[in-house]
Amino acid sequence: MSNNIENEMNHKYESVIERIHEAAQRTQRDPEEICLVAVSKTKPVEAIEEAISLGMRHFGENKPQEIRDKVAYFKDSQLIDAKELSWHMIGNIQKNKIKYLIDTCTMIHSIDTLDILSAINEAALKKERVLPILLQVNISMEESKNGFTVEEVYDILPKLKEFTGIRVQGLMTIPPFVKNAEDNRKHFRRLKEIFIDIKSKNIDNVYMQFLSMGMTDDFEVAIEEGATHIRVGTGIFGERNYNLIP
Ligand SMILES: *Cc1c(COP(=O)(O)O)cnc(C)c1O
Repeated sequence: MSNNIENEMNHKYESVIERIHEAAQRTQRDPEEICLVAVSKTKPVEAIEEAISLGMRHFGENKPQEIRDKVAYFKDSQLIDAKELSWHMIGNIQKNKIKYLIDTCTMIHSIDTLDILSAINEAALKKERVLPILLQVNISMEESKNGFTVEEVYDILPKLKEFTGIRVQGLMTIPPFVKNAEDNRKHFRRLKEIFIDIKSKNIDNVYMQFLSMGMTDDFEVAIEEGATHIRVGTGIFGERNYNLIP
């Protein structure tokens, strides 16, 4: 083990930034338009503090209570003004946990049923918030994956104008786990095509601005295919130990 753990995240972060820049360059994109969401799920606030001091501001979590607790912690932080931080919900949402998200989340990436969308809408309206959300699309049609099918997305689009407590800002996907990131290019490309098609329809309350796709092992391909948000956990924080979570 290195006794230089302090520096480890530094190196990982620099390498991620370099990979973002290279991927953007290959496709003539401005790297500044790509939001790096540092996926801090299961990681302690100390790791997030280190990430903040390295310059990271967007964090991704998959448990509503964990977002609530971490947001509460940083509310009183000496390190940073809490308003500078963004919290992205990227995990499966149960209805009874929605209450932890409304005041704390900057954006929910993982809206995967009309039922949950409707419940979040209601909770947001009660607190007079308009919550930015992304529709999660099961683009690869994997049985094990959450998300709307492409057909379902098109079906719900006309209904979205009724939900004034949310604002649909784009699409998100989690492609299959693959050994070779290139194998996911077709999925990223297809999601971008759907994104462009929906955008062209100018639907009420549907603002196609963001494409959340790409994780540690495939974010370069996702950037080349148009990702605006990449979700990187292991690549920044190292391996996760789920056994530590109660
Ligand atoms: C955990 C998680 C990530 C980060 O995965 P890494 O491979 O560690 O980068 C990204 N997106 C979602 C939805 C996740 O649950």
